[in-house]
Amino acid sequence: MSVIPHLINGELVTENGRAVDVFNPSTGQAIHKLPLATRETIQSAIDAAKAAFPAWRNTPPAKRAQVMFRFKQLLEQNEARIAQLISEEHGKTLEDAAGELKRGIENVEFACAAPEILKGEYSRNVGPNIDAWSDFQPLGVVAGITPFNFPAMVPLWMYPLAIVCGNCFILKPSERDPSSTLLIAQLLLEAGLPKGVLSVVHGDKTAVDALIEAPEVKALSFVGSTPIAEYIYSEGTKRGKRVQALGGAKNHAVLMPDADLDNAISALMGAAYGSCGERCMAISVAVCVGDQVADALVAKLVPQIKALKIGAGTNCGLDMGPLVTGQARDKVSGYVEDGVAAGAKLVVDGRGLTVAGHEEGFFLGGCLFDNVTPEMRIYKEEIFGPVLCVVRVNSLEEAMQLINDHEYGNGTCIFTRDGEAARLFCDEIEVGMVGVNVPLPVPVAYHSFGGWKRSLFGDLHAYGPDGVRFYTRRKAITQRWPQRASHEASQFAFPSL
Ligand code: NAD
Repeated sequence: MSVIPHLINGELVTENGRAVDVFNPSTGQAIHKLPLATRETIQSAIDAAKAAFPAWRNTPPAKRAQVMFRFKQLLEQNEARIAQLISEEHGKTLEDAAGELKRGIENVEFACAAPEILKGEYSRNVGPNIDAWSDFQPLGVVAGITPFNFPAMVPLWMYPLAIVCGNCFILKPSERDPSSTLLIAQLLLEAGLPKGVLSVVHGDKTAVDALIEAPEVKALSFVGSTPIAEYIYSEGTKRGKRVQALGGAKNHAVLMPDADLDNAISALMGAAYGSCGERCMAISVAVCVGDQVADALVAKLVPQIKALKIGAGTNCGLDMGPLVTGQARDKVSGYVEDGVAAGAKLVVDGRGLTVAGHEEGFFLGGCLFDNVTPEMRIYKEEIFGPVLCVVRVNSLEEAMQLINDHEYGNGTCIFTRDGEAARLFCDEIEVGMVGVNVPLPVPVAYHSFGGWKRSLFGDLHAYGPDGVRFYTRRKAITQRWPQRASHEASQFAFPSL
């Protein structure tokens, strides 16, 4: 079993001590050992970042961007290799893995515009002989902590932008599927990034706490579950750090009576069961307006769910792979049991699925519940698996109230042909990312990504324009060059025009 190293100061570093197994979820076998960083290891990455910062912040933005152009090329050249690594450790299908990489590359493309996005603001002649401008300067050493479900894309939401803004970055990826994340970071060094500007350290709470407590780390970007997001936000901000912490979700799709039902169902199948439901934007609740819509939806979903092609993610042409760990599979199965006990109608039961040749894999078939009600745990909590809950309501207003009352507010969508309903929904829904006939409204890289309510702690969303603001601080400069011949008397009143 190979050991996955850290990447610190441009070197691959292994350490003895605490370690965990990384599994191939399709076979159920442990395939790598992963060291868990000590506080000393984290400090060595921080020291390297601190040492690299002065030269990197003074590197012209256009030169920083040139590294990103080369990085983009290397990512594209290595797409198949990266997708294979993602699929081997996460379990998602190769096509899905390639898709997440492409969405990650979008963020590298955005970062290539560094000279443009860092131009600042300038006002000439704000007073006699006075000019003023705002500069966007880097923060210094910043860190990112990322989840297992997008080992390529979510880190790419963070460090390309942080780095082109002139910061040095320490990434603590998920301990469950770190190989693709590490390879991608190595490609950035190959593209010409100076050593120390990006380090990757593996670890658990010990590593994260060391990053939170280090005074040199000025900002933390986190993506993961809500309890950890809240912890990192409160501990980080308490220490004066800038923190953006993206958490969990429960995303509702509203089906209106006038929706194009067949297209809505195709969209729902991908959004609920793609990546085995392990997406923070996965649709996990279908809110049907009227029993007629609900009956038609359930009738049409059942055969499609039963026909899902499920197998080892590394085989081509599948719809769904396994869940990431045995623990994750058992947790999702536990929710299914809970739903049955609470009185929801289990229309399709995916439990007990075995895949020939992969009997030890962490597989679970698609599950569908009908007649789910808001007080049930399967409605209230994030299941993060291939389970779709159908909730029946009588009106759009009732559907919207349901969504607005939910503790999460990451993504949502409405399927309708009615522009008035769609407009009301977009205006009044308390969710950060909204789709109209678009089931997974993940913003493109030049818009920003973030939920509302307990799906995000912090003020600024991830990547795009908010990402630039997050990874820079504004400095306002006011400059006067008096004309040589003039002498200006002291002025004791507050300066004004
Ligand atoms: P997780 O919260 O278990 O782990 C995320 C990161 O936090 C990992 O790097 C992990 O090592 C670290 N971590 C875990 N426990 C910790 C602790 N006690 N103290 C400090 N750090 C700790 O999340 P996950 O299971 O890897 O990912 C799934 C979750 O992430 C889901 O809830 C999903 O909705 C969420 N997610 C949200 C978004 C979003 O944009 N809002 C995107 C992707 C995933």
